[in-house]
Amino acid sequence: MSESFDRLKNILKKLPGLGYKSAERIALHLTLENKSDARELFEALSAAAERITECPVCFGLSEDGEVCDTCRDSSRDSSKICIVESASDISSIERSGAWRGKYLVLGGKLSPLHKVGPEKLKLKELSERIASGEVSEILLALSNDIEGEATCHYIRERALPRDKEIKITRIGFGLPSGSQLGFADSVTIKSALDSRKPF
Ligand SMILES: [Zn+2]
Repeated sequence: MSESFDRLKNILKKLPGLGYKSAERIALHLTLENKSDARELFEALSAAAERITECPVCFGLSEDGEVCDTCRDSSRDSSKICIVESASDISSIERSGAWRGKYLVLGGKLSPLHKVGPEKLKLKELSERIASGEVSEILLALSNDIEGEATCHYIRERALPRDKEIKITRIGFGLPSGSQLGFADSVTIKSALDSRKPF
């Protein structure tokens, strides 16, 4: 047995979506079976950890503290903001090609059970962004579960200015109940966006 192997396996096991078996398989692949992949992974990880930062506007992925490409893209409609839970939801929606507006990553959803209150989400930032620009539509693309639902209500009731005429929509759900965007395929996401309804 090897102490280093166990250490690696235990770290991998903590990653989202990896159980004991897959952690062990990856650890074996990277150590005994294919060391060059390990070196490449190591370099990619160091570069990513060093360079990847949160975009100061949408809180999605960016590099070196700069505003991300999506926020800078002037061909996109900045009056429409799609609100998602995590940066990976942006990638899922982008793959579907169904959204030409901008984004804001909330950083989760309200969950008393997991001690996530409004102060842990980017709600203040959302209010500020709406107050400072011309926003015509807010698309809520949060999970189709109780916490997602509660978060949508909170945003509508508490985080949006009363003095502006803003259309609030929510993605339609071809998505199964309880599901998260990240697990849906592009076709399902596209139809969920196309069938968005007033909320
Ligand atoms: Zn951005």
